Amino acid sequence: MDGSKHTDTAPVLILLGPPGAGKGTQARVLQEKFGLVQLSTGDLLRAAVAAGTEAGKQAKAVMEAGGLVSDEIVLAVLSDRLAEADCASGVVLDGFPRTTGQAEALDGMLAVSGQRINAAIALEVDNVKMVLRIAGRFTCTGCGEGYHDSFKPTKVDGVCDGCGSSDMTRRADDNAQTVMSRLDAYQLQTEPLISYYADKGALQRVDAMGDIDAIGERIAQIVSSVTA
Ligand code: ADP
Ligand code: ADP
Ligand code: ZN
Repeated sequence: MDGSKHTDTAPVLILLGPPGAGKGTQARVLQEKFGLVQLSTGDLLRAAVAAGTEAGKQAKAVMEAGGLVSDEIVLAVLSDRLAEADCASGVVLDGFPRTTGQAEALDGMLAVSGQRINAAIALEVDNVKMVLRIAGRFTCTGCGEGYHDSFKPTKVDGVCDGCGSSDMTRRADDNAQTVMSRLDAYQLQTEPLISYYADKGALQRVDAMGDIDAIGERIAQIVSSVTA
């Protein structure tokens, strides 16, 4: 015995960062590289809106205005998804937690199952870049792959590289007006989580400017070191 604390619980990683930082893009990379399940509360909420559930009805207007959906609704959709069997192999949380209340609730949920947060990875981008990233974002409906008009175009115009679908969507909230509200919400309600996780010794900062693959490498190194 080397005296180090041995845990064989499934990894839990958090991707923190403003809208457009690259959380979704890098969560998919981690899903591929490490067999983790990407849990995006944004995707879960958009699915609830599309399905017209009670949670979706309450979330819709808030999302369109660029505000944060209530902790109660977000925690309900997240905890339901976290309880599904595939999450047992480990998760990468994308866009959650976004408030101190959500972070505390997550700590409580993980404590119950004897799990812990391996790392909260903060993606750092400048505000001008973030707005440009959001303005050109589109997503394949077939497989969920994210693209960008200028920074990550499809190889064949209008056709997904991954699944070949030509059904692409753009988010209703990816517009110039809403972006500023989303950035405000981030700075006021989410940025405090950087010190929350720094205080716990779980924070890892990553320069998220530049090449998608290079950033993916930096994140993969961190993940390897915290899950070893
Ligand atoms: P988030 O989930 O943090 O909102 P996304 O991963 O959806 O961010 O990325 C926002 C947009 O920027 C997408 O169109 C994506 O293709 C693009 N993008 C992601 N990472 C980079 C990067 N390093 N450089 C340029 N564009 C990027
Ligand atoms: P982004 O790419 O801007 O980071 P997301 O897809 O993560 O966007 O979230 C889109 C919207 O969904 C947010 O602006 C917010 O209204 C809502 N949302 C997503 N996750 C949360 C959360 N954890 N808490 C509150 N609202 C959330
Ligand atoms: Zn696709």
